[in-house]
Amino acid sequence: MNPPARTPTAPGPAPFLDSKESLACIHCGLCLSSCPTYLETGNENDSPRGRIYLMRAIQDGRMPLAETAVHHIDLCLGCRACETACPSGVKYGNLLEATRDHIEGHYQRPLAQRLLRQGAIEQIFPFGERMELALLPARLAQATGLARFLPKFARDSLALIPEKFSSARWLEVSPATGGTRRGAVAFVRGCVMNVMFGPTHLATVRLLNRAGYDVVTPPDQGCCGALYAHGGNLAAARESARKNIAVFEEREVEAIIINAAGCGSTLKEYGHLLAGDPLWAARAQRFSAKVRDLSEWLATSGLATHLAPTQFASPVTFHDACHLAHPQKITQQPRALVKAVAGSRFVELPEAEICCGSAGSYNLTEPEMAGRLGSRKTGNILQTGAKTVVTTNPGCILQMQAGLREAGVKDVEVLHLADFLDRHCHY
Ligand code: SF4
Ligand code: SF4
Repeated sequence: MNPPARTPTAPGPAPFLDSKESLACIHCGLCLSSCPTYLETGNENDSPRGRIYLMRAIQDGRMPLAETAVHHIDLCLGCRACETACPSGVKYGNLLEATRDHIEGHYQRPLAQRLLRQGAIEQIFPFGERMELALLPARLAQATGLARFLPKFARDSLALIPEKFSSARWLEVSPATGGTRRGAVAFVRGCVMNVMFGPTHLATVRLLNRAGYDVVTPPDQGCCGALYAHGGNLAAARESARKNIAVFEEREVEAIIINAAGCGSTLKEYGHLLAGDPLWAARAQRFSAKVRDLSEWLATSGLATHLAPTQFASPVTFHDACHLAHPQKITQQPRALVKAVAGSRFVELPEAEICCGSAGSYNLTEPEMAGRLGSRKTGNILQTGAKTVVTTNPGCILQMQAGLREAGVKDVEVLHLADFLDRHCHY
């Protein structure tokens, strides 16, 4: 029997996917069991393979750029666990960013979504001063109990804000304090992290100083661009990258250190982001080659010898931030540092590499799935009996703290690797 005749379709939009990258998927399905959204829904359209099919279908004009397709792409966490699982080396993150950029340029979202995405996420979060101002009414609503009268989506967002947080005030250069001065590194303080995790930043600088490094924190640096790139605004992400490259290349440092996994992954991909810009491509490559996650840098700095092994009363566990484990392939270095302190009290977290649902601003744009993944993570944490959970990304910390609070758990502490190590460093 002859195959049915193809129905002619309207020609597709201008190609937005790299053809080699988009055709690399051989539909084997080996990525499906590592995809958090597929694990939750069991729907092929919520899997990496299904989404790549949708992306190609949108590009080829076989599927309209309408609510259904956009919903399945929106539901993707961008966690890139599928890249780790894929035997064909599909660069899913590149495909996703290009598709989201296309969606935001060609699809009209409802007003509430536009206000959230183009207002709060793009115009407030990347700017420290605006973020501090925006948090004032949120904290007031929490403190006065007014929060309970707000709609559910607003209450869910407020639940992510910790009861106590503070921003960091900076010395431009913080000198090495260890016995041997090893050199100088630059530090990327980020936007959300700098406002909500000031003490973690100061712990990071102390650790680097103790390891023998002067830490240079350029005051004129800006957002790394991750929020823009993940949200579908590649032009703004490229502009952020250019600004940071210009600021950091003036500093004579061995490495550019970042303690937020999501930002680190974007900084390491400036080379890709600006590959099509002849004026910036080489500068971006040089910048990215210098970027190191804090755990990656400390693991080879000799700091471990100054960590005090501690007999914890309860187990200590570690959650892999997606953007450290998958795009950066860093899983062993932070574990080695945690184990240097916790020794035999370290326990592996079941599904440690499965996204907690934070995923940048995902817990604001997709609260329902974020909540499901948050509950899944809480269940796994409780299963270990750990009272200390260490991780390397601010969003994961806020998400796990909120999940534990929601479950009524008060005796499990979630903290950044820098805070954990700083507490247990000898000098
Ligand atoms: S990035 Fe994460 S959520 Fe998205 S398709 Fe890949 S594994 Fe699934
Ligand atoms: S993305 Fe990779 S693992 Fe997933 S179906 Fe395609 S080739 Fe297979």
